[in-house]
Order: sequence, then structure tokens, then C-alpha cells
Amino acid sequence: MENVTDIDSIVGHIKKNARKGDPESVLKVADDFCSKNARQSMHIGPEKGSIVDDIFREHKPKIALELGAYWGYSAVRYGRLMEPGTKYFSIEFSPRFLQVAKDLVEFAGLSDVVTFIEGSSEDVIPRLKKDYNIDSVDLVFIDHDKTLYKPDVIRLDECGLLKKGSVMAADNVLCPGAPDYLEYVRSSPKFISTFYESSLNYRPEIKDGIEKSVYL
Ligand code: MG
Repeated sequence: MENVTDIDSIVGHIKKNARKGDPESVLKVADDFCSKNARQSMHIGPEKGSIVDDIFREHKPKIALELGAYWGYSAVRYGRLMEPGTKYFSIEFSPRFLQVAKDLVEFAGLSDVVTFIEGSSEDVIPRLKKDYNIDSVDLVFIDHDKTLYKPDVIRLDECGLLKKGSVMAADNVLCPGAPDYLEYVRSSPKFISTFYESSLNYRPEIKDGIEKSVYL
């Protein structure tokens, strides 16, 4: 588990130095601070982050779902790309992380777009339709417990939340790695899957990447 003091210092710095209501400013201050301070924060960061930016820009989801909010970097990053009237839902297991992420998203002015849901993905996914009036999800950003990637995508499918053209964008598929997920999406006839090579945030020497998988 991450040292929460680091998260507090990152978010504290952002709130002191970024422009309130300006997601671009929030991301710039976050990226500058984390790279200069070599913070060991496991958020997606700017390089892999921009690969997923392109996936959002290409697919223009009306309903997006994030698995794992952490301190809110990705909710700000992708919340800023959501078009008017669309919704970004983020499931976070840790009440502590959820509070920090909520606070940051509010600071960035994205509270109308981003809805946080506290709980485990296992408990929350089956009640998304009923409790949040979600028919299906257009784009899923997967960045929580690496052992849950595969069961949660199967769960989304079994709950009828995936439709033709739904896109999964999974972070950290090489580092720390999600081998069973990769094997699943690459071999399943339900998906067509593509790997985008990159490196770990602020660690160019460590290979990582994003797996994009489109539901057929
Ligand atoms: Mg990640």
C-alpha cells in the first residue's frame, strides 16, 4: 500500500499551485511536481496517460468507467476529455483514496462529470445498471488491483455492461503486469486487442504499456 503522506503532499502541492477549475493546470502541476520530486506514485503519468487520452478522443465515450481512482489523477485527466452531458464513473475501494480523489476532482472543476463510487469492483459492478442507471459502458479505464483486471472484465460482460464497440484501456499490463488479463483479452473471440508500448511513469528505463481491447 502506498504511503498516504506522499499522496497528501502531491495533492497539497497541486491545490497550492494549480489554477482552481482548470484541469490542464492541475495535470501540469502534478506532472512537474512528480517528475522533479521523483515521487513514487503509481498513477498513470503523462506518457501512458496521453496514450489513453487518444483512446478517449477517438472513441468519445458517453459513459466511461474507471476501476481504481487512487488520488484522482486519471479522473481529472480523462474527466477533462468527456463531452458535455456525458458521465465518468470511478470505483475506488479505499475510502481514504476516494476522499482525496473527490477533493482533487472538485478542485479541477469536474465534479459534474465525475461520479465516485466507494466499494470493491466485485460489489459495485453488478449494481451499476440499477443504482446508477447505466445501460452499458463505452470505455473502461482499468487501473486497480492487477489480479482483478480479468475477473472484472468478465464481470462487466456477464452483467451486460459491454456492447459492441465498448473499449477497455488497461494500464500496467507489463509492470507490475496482468498476464492472465492479457492472455484472456488476446485469445478471447469477444475482443480485438492491441498493445501500446510505453514506460512506467517517470521511469523511462522500465517498460510498460496500455492494452486496448475492443468488444466485438
Ligand atoms: Mg496504473
